[in-house]
Amino acid sequence: MLQLKGITKRYEIGSFKQTALDGVDLAFRSQEFVCILGPSGSGKTTMLNMIGGLDRYDAGDLLISGKSTRHFKASQWDSYRNHAIGFVFQNYNLITHTSVLANVEVGMTLSGLSVEKRRERALEVLERVGLIDHVDKKPNQLSGGQMQRVAIARALANDPDIILADEPTGAIDSETSRQIMTLIQEIAKDKLVVMVTHDEQIAKTYANRVVTLRDGQVLHDSNPYVTEVDAPQKLSFKKTSMAFWQALQLSFSNLKTKKFRTLITAFAGSIGIIGVALVLSLANGLNQEIDRLEMTTLSEFPIQIDSIAFDVAAARQAGPPTGPPTDADGLERFPDVRQIFPFQRQISSVQHINIIEDDYLDHLAALDPVYYHDIMIRRSVNMNILHRRPNDQVSRINTGAVNFEPLLGNPEFFADNYDILEGRHPENHQELLLVVDAFNRLNIRMITELGFDPNALEFDFDVFLNRSFQAVLLDDFYTYNPETDRFFQPSNLTEFYAEQRGIELTIVGIARIQDGAISNVLSQGIKYHPDLAEIYLEHAAASEIGQAQIASPERSVLTGNQITPQTHQSLLRTLGVDSTPSSIAIYPVSFEAKEAIRNHLDAYNEDRSESERIIYTDLAAIVTELTSDVINGISYVLIAFSSISLIVSSIMIGIITYVSVLERTKEIGILRSLGARKRDIARVFNAETTIIGFVSGALGVLIAFLLTFPINAIIGNLVDQLDRLAVMPIQAVFALIAISIFLTLIAGLIPSSIASRKDPVAALRVD
Ligand code: ADP
Ligand code: MG
Repeated sequence: MLQLKGITKRYEIGSFKQTALDGVDLAFRSQEFVCILGPSGSGKTTMLNMIGGLDRYDAGDLLISGKSTRHFKASQWDSYRNHAIGFVFQNYNLITHTSVLANVEVGMTLSGLSVEKRRERALEVLERVGLIDHVDKKPNQLSGGQMQRVAIARALANDPDIILADEPTGAIDSETSRQIMTLIQEIAKDKLVVMVTHDEQIAKTYANRVVTLRDGQVLHDSNPYVTEVDAPQKLSFKKTSMAFWQALQLSFSNLKTKKFRTLITAFAGSIGIIGVALVLSLANGLNQEIDRLEMTTLSEFPIQIDSIAFDVAAARQAGPPTGPPTDADGLERFPDVRQIFPFQRQISSVQHINIIEDDYLDHLAALDPVYYHDIMIRRSVNMNILHRRPNDQVSRINTGAVNFEPLLGNPEFFADNYDILEGRHPENHQELLLVVDAFNRLNIRMITELGFDPNALEFDFDVFLNRSFQAVLLDDFYTYNPETDRFFQPSNLTEFYAEQRGIELTIVGIARIQDGAISNVLSQGIKYHPDLAEIYLEHAAASEIGQAQIASPERSVLTGNQITPQTHQSLLRTLGVDSTPSSIAIYPVSFEAKEAIRNHLDAYNEDRSESERIIYTDLAAIVTELTSDVINGISYVLIAFSSISLIVSSIMIGIITYVSVLERTKEIGILRSLGARKRDIARVFNAETTIIGFVSGALGVLIAFLLTFPINAIIGNLVDQLDRLAVMPIQAVFALIAISIFLTLIAGLIPSSIASRKDPVAALRVD
């Protein structure tokens, strides 16, 4: 069954060679109770370790069922230990942090038995050793004799053929020893039991064969087994392996015994996670806040089409400015240059001239009105508006100075943003509206332009209400002088005003901009009915002066001065002859509507050349985009900083894992004696770091989550609009826990590989 042939084992300590076993020849029967006697240091334990596959012999051979083990691989030894051998040690070698039941089950988990099978078998052997009432106790709650029974139950659990016991009663009183010996004798009825003892009395009483060792050699054998070598049989043991889940359970029960330390470790490990989680929460909350702003408040911000647009896309693509001048070899000539270089400013790539013509206005007209509150078209026409000042002098108003602009076309949109304080909304082209700001104020510039005392503290509504103006059409205002070939305006405006040749305009209402009004809508000043513009522009296009100016592109018909093409164009626009808009503002009804509007505007540009395109500006989108970019940039920097603490805590966890390896050395030996592979030992410690990593990550995320409440409360108090500044993104929860596990796992790799390499015999000897 088991045969030792010339087994030799030497230990080298420095230059000193100690021969522990010196050519031992022994054969064992399948069923017998063999006691190994011998003085201390005679090689008894060493022989047992050889038989049990816990240590390797230097020379000779160990035959198992006739098969040589000389070329056994590590995994074969592991499964041999697991399936064929049951160890019982003098000092019990139980895993102290798990229950009696779990101790008995460990070996079976390595052989891959199902949970039910394990439980059933463990209870069976515990019953057999008389411990059925103590299965849930921890080993240190038992007496020495009881602990040894647990060890015996564990040795029996996998139903091995061989039980190896090394002085099992060495630490037990004589009465209890007798009970243990009876139990072992009982077991030996159908197994091979090899028991080391130095108690000759016990050996003679219980064993049916006594082998005496001295100085590593067999001195005497009371019942030698002389046999021809067994016919070699095929040996096959199932490979052992510990499931990761099992490793987790084992590590979990170990960590439970040092809850406080685990918690402190996890907390320290979580600090980096807290930092990163908080930064992510703040960035996320801020971005959400900005998105919300864009969806609500900013959504009604107009899409603006100006005659000169800033092309953001082009600005982003624009390369760096050209560098200093270089010579023929490409070397920089700066700063030792004595020349002046011409250069052209490159503005065209960033600025875009929008040529807003009728087909674009038609395209806008095709936009579904459900998407917008209003489309406001501004022109640079400077209407002739005459006004009799309080001092009875008549002046031509600078329309720019009083913001003389068309009213909003949509009355509901108007009502959403303005309150009528006095009078009513204009209903026809002869009616005007005076708009004041949210505090009933009017710019001093306007007050001066209308001829009122700029030093007055306040004005009654009556001063402005019902005040009248005259809009004088071009042909009525300008007269042609053939002698100078120029047009001139009335020399005496007061007299001209009295003739009442213009369209009479009256302020019929005063409106105030609401506090929460969309900025960029109508500003304060005097507003006219859109019909007035239509009448005025229609006339201007057909007017005498208008036609004359169109026919004279190089000379102003008003001043007689030479003009450039640009001045000619702006002159036509100021007169109202050219009604090309200077700007268009589209007020979307919602965020979604804005998308639709943008799509509609983009469609116009689709098959047009670069210069024909109309570039619009979505100010709200630019603002939110820029803000998000800034927030993200800052977040990256902050995350980088907090990552340093992540790394520091990972290193710390590595150190703590190493301490744990030192503490659990004994357990490593036990697991190895039960057949655990090196890889399984590494797995136990990787499981431990996984648990710590998980707890750190979860704790970090939880603490960061709890911190978001006071942070939001404090910032909410400081800034009105921001009541949910920190919002933890759900993806971050999982990502951070995963990162934490990953980092601690990495940190634990070195300690766990140290653990897996520990010599099982040495490990078992540690107290
Ligand atoms: P026993 O169990 O009979 O008391 P051991 O088998 O433990 O004896 O030891 C046999 C001899 O081998 C002793 O002299 C012991 O000092 C030596 N020995 C055992 N293990 C080691 C080891 N790991 N390193 C060096 N010497 C050892
Ligand atoms: Mg010994």
